[in-house]
Amino acid sequence: MSSPAKIEESSPALPENGKALGPVRKKKFAVRFDAEVAFEVFSTLEDWWRERRGYLAKIVPPHHYYLPRGIERNSTELCRWLFFMAIPMRGGINSDDAFRFMKAFYESAPEFFDPHVVQKKNPDEIMYAVRAVAGAIHNGGSKGRKKAGTFSYKMEEHVAAWIVNARVLVERWGGDVRKVFESVADFEEAFARVDYERNEFGFIGMRRKIFSLLTLWMQDFHMIHKFPMPLIVDFHTIRMLLQHRILQTEYKILGPNNTKNPLRVRPESMWNYTALRVTEKLVDQIITWSQKFCEKRNLVPYDVAHGLWYNSRLLCASYLGNRSKEKKLDDNRRTVTEFLIDAEPLKTRAGWPKDYRDPCRHCPVETTCKVAIPSGPYFDWGVMVKAGKHVLFPGRQRRFAGIKWREMSGSFRSTKTRHFRSATNGNGNGKEENAKAHEALQLPFYED
Ligand code: SF4
Repeated sequence: MSSPAKIEESSPALPENGKALGPVRKKKFAVRFDAEVAFEVFSTLEDWWRERRGYLAKIVPPHHYYLPRGIERNSTELCRWLFFMAIPMRGGINSDDAFRFMKAFYESAPEFFDPHVVQKKNPDEIMYAVRAVAGAIHNGGSKGRKKAGTFSYKMEEHVAAWIVNARVLVERWGGDVRKVFESVADFEEAFARVDYERNEFGFIGMRRKIFSLLTLWMQDFHMIHKFPMPLIVDFHTIRMLLQHRILQTEYKILGPNNTKNPLRVRPESMWNYTALRVTEKLVDQIITWSQKFCEKRNLVPYDVAHGLWYNSRLLCASYLGNRSKEKKLDDNRRTVTEFLIDAEPLKTRAGWPKDYRDPCRHCPVETTCKVAIPSGPYFDWGVMVKAGKHVLFPGRQRRFAGIKWREMSGSFRSTKTRHFRSATNGNGNGKEENAKAHEALQLPFYED
């Protein structure tokens, strides 16, 4: 096999007739990928995830951790649960909250996960059921204006997708999502069957990102056959690609935003940062590239995706350079990101908090990490902002009792380490209290 070019271009377009059109002009590509760094980062994190090394020890992925009790023994029910579980996994929601909510929803009202029943429901019935779950798990009602827990974000869209997709599932696929995947050669072929932009039997609210998540779960539970898959391209994956300069593209000055909502107005302190807008086109380019890349380099997308996700979610989120500070209103309510961390003062020990936990000492891919990308601007305005250069913590103690930090099993916990199996009942359920108790024992930490 010939060795791949260092920089790979995303889906270069060919002339339609396939012939060269005179002298070749150098085409400007908006998105490039550094194949060598990608392979180094992906293969390292793939191994770390598969072997649950270091800080990943005993972590159980959320689709296992939050599985409704006993559902794995009934494949029809499991597939229905996964299908509806994918619906709220959009936008800036917390995936743990979404899983916890949907688990409670299923356990209290499983009929809402039967597409034959759901297709005949009206939106009000679903909203009523959703609010009842929110009231139960949020001790009398969730904080959001809509009082609908995870569904508060885009509630009307989620409910519409719940009904329409149930109908499509019944009418086109006999109520069984596994049929979508019958004899497909790869992810793209499966997606083409349900893409609402290409056919009338599409699933609404399910673009490549969400559908790839559903596909990955289905493969992991052996509900469908294995075929080439992309990575799951959410905020955490994109952050990893940008921090390591695997994804290379043009950033633009952020500037002011155009909103009528006074709570969402971008503060002037943010205008001069350079930023990259996360569009569906960009996500699709990464998805398409990642599938080809993983296939070509014999990487397992499931393991790479989890390695990237947990690295960003647990470690990068706690790196000081990725922190942001939100603007507060007079009544102390938080609004949007106002300040990021300046890299310059981090060059000396005095620029860091006294009790800084240094999550990066546990990171297996620290050497290629060059840029700080905080999460605040993404969740506020859908943009990835460069806060500055990545800075190594100057106060780092290299080893503890002769052992490298990276090699200490389960050595870093954050509030986001919820899928931690300290004692197992076989499927990872029912141990949240253990995990929380474990977190409570940890030292203070800093995260975005
Ligand atoms: S060095 Fe730190 S910020 Fe960079 S990838 Fe590793 S954990 Fe994340």
